[in-house]
Amino acid sequence: MVAAMSDKNALVIDAQGVCSAVRQVPSPNCDVRPNENVPDMVVIHNIHLPPGEPGTMAFSGDAIERLFTNCLDIDAHECFAELSNLRVSAHFLIRRDGEIVQFVPCNLRAWHAGVSSWQGRERCNDFSIGIELEGSDFVPFEAIQYVQLNLLLNALQARYPIAHVVGHSEIAPGRKTDPGPFFVWENLMSSVLELRQTGYISRS
Ligand SMILES: [Zn+2]
Repeated sequence: MVAAMSDKNALVIDAQGVCSAVRQVPSPNCDVRPNENVPDMVVIHNIHLPPGEPGTMAFSGDAIERLFTNCLDIDAHECFAELSNLRVSAHFLIRRDGEIVQFVPCNLRAWHAGVSSWQGRERCNDFSIGIELEGSDFVPFEAIQYVQLNLLLNALQARYPIAHVVGHSEIAPGRKTDPGPFFVWENLMSSVLELRQTGYISRS
C-alpha cells in the first residue's frame, strides 16, 4: 500500500525517528549510534534484488526486505546464498511504485554505508540516515520515487539538522557506484540542492 502522501505535510518523523505513516519492517541489523550522534547526513543508495543484467532486472518481490531482515530464501536465486551472510539494512526503502518502507528508526544506526568517509569523518553510518531507492545504475528511477524521496527528505529535515545529502558513491568512491548515473540530483527539492551547492561538495 502506498500511504497517502500527496499532502506535503503527510510525513512526520517522531522523536524516536519513526515515520509511522509508512510500513514498518523492523530489521535487526542496527545498533545504537555511538557518542549519541544526531544524524546530520542522508546517504542515497540504489538496490535491486535479485541481481540482474540491464534489461532483465525484476523490480518485484520481497527479496530486499528479506535481505534487510536476514530472511533471504537462499533457494530462490543462485546469488542469495552469498548475500545471506550479509548483515545490512537501511533506514528506508522507496520502491518502484513509490511505497516507502522503514526498517530502522532514524535514531538508531542502520548498516548501509560500510567503509566510508566524508569530509574527514569516517564511518558514515554513525551519523547518517540511509535511503535505498529500488533501482539500478542502468535504468532511470520512477518519477514517483523522486516525489516520495522529497517528502521523506522534507520530513527528515524537520526532525534532524541535515547538512549533507550525498550519494553512496560520494562517501565510498571506487568501492560503490550508487545511486548511479541515472539518479537525477536536480529532481531533489531546492533546499537540498542548495545544501549541495553551498556544501563544498563535488559530485563524483
Ligand atoms: Zn549503496
